[in-house]
Amino acid sequence: MPGKQYVWFDGRFVAYEDAKVHVLTHSLQYGSGIFEGIRAYKTAMGPAVFRLKDHIKRFLNTVKIYDMNLGFTQSQIEHAITDLVKKNGLQECYIRPFAFYNSQRLGVNPIGNKVSLVIIAIPFGEYLQNKDNGIKCKVATWQRINSSILPVEAKASGNYLNSALTSLEARKAGADEAILLSHNGYVAEGPGENIFLIQDNVLVTPPKSADILVGITRNSVIQIAEKKGIEVEERNVHREELYTSDEVFFTGTAAEISPIIEIDLRKIGSGKIGPITKIFLDAYSDITHGRGDDFGDWLTYVK
Ligand code: PMP
Repeated sequence: MPGKQYVWFDGRFVAYEDAKVHVLTHSLQYGSGIFEGIRAYKTAMGPAVFRLKDHIKRFLNTVKIYDMNLGFTQSQIEHAITDLVKKNGLQECYIRPFAFYNSQRLGVNPIGNKVSLVIIAIPFGEYLQNKDNGIKCKVATWQRINSSILPVEAKASGNYLNSALTSLEARKAGADEAILLSHNGYVAEGPGENIFLIQDNVLVTPPKSADILVGITRNSVIQIAEKKGIEVEERNVHREELYTSDEVFFTGTAAEISPIIEIDLRKIGSGKIGPITKIFLDAYSDITHGRGDDFGDWLTYVK
């Protein structure tokens, strides 16, 4: 077990139990925080953060979209993350950089609010409980937000109210997770995952224009596919294609590669984890744990 745990808070290490804010904090009241989700994995050369630069780049894009005055650079944030993983003595963990309006005053307008940056690194197992055997999904009755309403490419807390409604709905209906359609009815993604379908050995995934969060794991899977000579199609996907595909899986930092074996009470393919999904499960596990021959530059070792 790791020893005393810390949170990086505006440039200082604070004891985990002391990393607190007031109940009137703007981002708590109005969902105006922005964040990233990153994982570090145990490798033979110590813990390694997976695609750190890409995550912080997306984080800074979210900062830009929300016009937040953050005051920390890409390299300062990257160093803060590796320092924190080291200080907490973690081999494998989930890392959550979170920037928020840390002022206690009423009113939605964020101008004049202090911006704080915290980074949390905690042990974290599997995000979707039944991942190892394949999960069951339900298409949500709520649509995925679109960027005329909220920036879909930003990872902002408020977006996750849309996700939370659908996760709740799916679980109450007995499924493990939801699948959201975009406002024009095409398949978008999960509440916190991108989605891939396998049809006649071709890997199909919804494009940016389906209002997805452009996932870093999604990008990893596309690059792995290209390396393995598996054809990839980024195109709009009809809902019914979910039912008729040979295999379906989710991707995400938290979800990693999560096979989907049932959607809307219909068995997908054989109803078991399929052979192409297995190729990605194995490749992703090898690469993240430093066992892969390729993509070594996706790992930032904690020294
Ligand atoms: N979509 C949503 C809405 C998400 O929250 C996430 C998790 N960040 C993803 C997709 C997957 O993105 P990534 O692979 O970068 O974690």
